[in-house]
Amino acid sequence: MARIVMKFGGTSMAGTERIRRVAGIVRRQQEAGHEVAVVVSAMSGETDRLVNFCREANALYDPAEYDVVVASGEQVTSGLLALTLQSIGAKARSWLGWQLPIRTDDAHAKARIESIDTDEILASMARGEIAVIPGFQGLTADNRITTLGRGGSDTSAVAVAAALKADRCDIYTDVDGVYTTDPRIVAKARKLKNVTYEEMLELASVGSKVLQTRSVSLAMKEKVRVQVLSSFIDENAPAADTLPGTMIVSDEELEGLDMERQLITGIAADKNDAKVILTAVPDRPGAVSSIFGPLAEANINVDMIIQNVGRADTDTDVTFTVPAADLDRTVAVLEENRETIRYEKLSTDPKVAKISVVGVGMRSHAGVAAMMFKALADRGINIQAISTSEIKVSVLIDSDETELAVRLLHTAYGLDG
Ligand code: ADP
Ligand code: ASP
Ligand code: MG
Repeated sequence: MARIVMKFGGTSMAGTERIRRVAGIVRRQQEAGHEVAVVVSAMSGETDRLVNFCREANALYDPAEYDVVVASGEQVTSGLLALTLQSIGAKARSWLGWQLPIRTDDAHAKARIESIDTDEILASMARGEIAVIPGFQGLTADNRITTLGRGGSDTSAVAVAAALKADRCDIYTDVDGVYTTDPRIVAKARKLKNVTYEEMLELASVGSKVLQTRSVSLAMKEKVRVQVLSSFIDENAPAADTLPGTMIVSDEELEGLDMERQLITGIAADKNDAKVILTAVPDRPGAVSSIFGPLAEANINVDMIIQNVGRADTDTDVTFTVPAADLDRTVAVLEENRETIRYEKLSTDPKVAKISVVGVGMRSHAGVAAMMFKALADRGINIQAISTSEIKVSVLIDSDETELAVRLLHTAYGLDG
């Protein structure tokens, strides 16, 4: 017998028929002799709809009230799944975030889980009952509802699995695993049998939304075994233990599993950044600090940065990227600080995409970045900025060229299936 946390995403929970299929999958897992707890997302599209209501009600909405509104989508699906499980003869009940409780900090709309009281879930499982827990939501120390940031149900599931010391956390979604790149963009994408925590963390943070970034860092820290698999399976499919999903594994585990590793594991694209250019910034010590200090104070995350070679030793251009959602605030901060930064011109470009290649193979092989630059150059794709980490190379390009760039890199690194 194993203890398993099963998480179902928005597409899997979208409507009565799909919830019925989910109930079947959950019940089968329990009938196979396992203890199960389930974490669910809101129906797909529902959270977007609720976010829009908040915007319409008040453009400068209070994040604490936003959380009250957007957390409701998961309340609906957790109740519906419990009802559906009961209808097929399983014992089940819902446990809302505040009922357990799942404690978070008070960073509304992007809260972090601090602790989960597992007493009720453990008692529930001991009674042979399936605990259904809404993802994405929590409670502050002073009892206000929080949410964990978009895609946060993955993190709820991993946190519940860690708190319950579960043997596995199965993330059921609308694709049957983690692919070399988004299979909805590249038809030749290949499913990965295994991917390391580190690679998955990089892939998620540069745009592979199949798992929320924070869920991967939590799984890595708490050593939770995470498996990604499809909920769109046959009624009579076997329980998850034998389904071919993607397992997130440690580096050491992978060494043993996969001797012939590819140089690159995956490619991701992210269109949610915007580019900012400041021209003729004085070329002197302290100049960059006068730009990025105020942005940091305003809580704006700067990602890629390039400072061009100075002109006649007097001034230089500085280019960087910020989340597109923060572009207006970024411009306001830079204009406010124009006197101290002393730039000549400020221009912005939201039409950019960051393309990243990720793989632990980069540690031991030179030339990964060079191959990327050449493949893009051969097709006339201009690189506007570059950033690297130990296992990742990212470039910024025109967003119109996103799909083309991902496809040609997928072929260039030999990933086509
Ligand atoms: P859920 O609602 O189940 O949480 P998401 O929409 O958040 O599902 O994540 C699943 C989606 O992630 C897939 O439909 C796919 O388009 C996208 N995706 C992006 N990159 C990848 C990748 N490398 N492998 C698999 N899916 C990916
Ligand atoms: N429903 C939330 C969202 O759409 C959380 C999730 O689905 O993971 O972001
Ligand atoms: Mg998701």
